[in-house]
Amino acid sequence: MKPSKKLKTKNLKLKTKNHLVVIILGPPGCGKGTQAKLLCQKFNLEYFGSGEELRKRQRMNDFTGKKLREVIERGEWAPEFIISKLWMEKLEKFKQKIKFNGMVYDGGPRKMLEAQIFNQSLEWYEWEKNKKAIFINISEKESFNRLTKRRQCKSCGRLIPWLGEFKKLKKCDKCGGKLIIRSDDKPKIIKQRLAEFETKTIPVINYYKKQGKLIKINGEQSIENVFQDILKGLR
Ligand SMILES: [Zn+2]
Repeated sequence: MKPSKKLKTKNLKLKTKNHLVVIILGPPGCGKGTQAKLLCQKFNLEYFGSGEELRKRQRMNDFTGKKLREVIERGEWAPEFIISKLWMEKLEKFKQKIKFNGMVYDGGPRKMLEAQIFNQSLEWYEWEKNKKAIFINISEKESFNRLTKRRQCKSCGRLIPWLGEFKKLKKCDKCGGKLIIRSDDKPKIIKQRLAEFETKTIPVINYYKKQGKLIKINGEQSIENVFQDILKGLR
């Protein structure tokens, strides 16, 4: 038994030095996804998002895939045990990467239990040292307006924000696909999501504030200015 144990330890590569973990939080429609992608490009970080993983999981035609479709259609959140399994699969892949600078978590943990589990996973993978949480703040009214008018490409999934030039698009500017209003973006569902943000995600924001990790950003400006403020905050 002893030799194999030794071998395993020898092959374990623990890279713990200065991986940047940026958690992006904010109400629906604040532009989290856009800023997450900009940060990934800028610092060569991996993109991490529960939304994307859950959409992938929904496409599987098993019990959980079908049930997730129903739950998300109603504007409800997936249970933590499913989310943490999806996280672990993704984080394990990051751990195996030879070049890993860190990650941007688009949307962040949305409730306290998720935040605690995520903290646990950062400790497990030894990435907890260089963690920052960014709160992109927009008013409830701004959030509502952006979401009721936002569209998504039916073919490639690209989100088209209701901002500036994008308003004029009739088809997807990437693939020419048909644009539809996202199913979780109906007014009644949006009100529910805003209420859930208030009651469930605000405590998560306060949790990072207490840890001294929170950077608050004014989200009601251009994409470029929000990004510049985030870069200033990270310095
Ligand atoms: Zn498209």
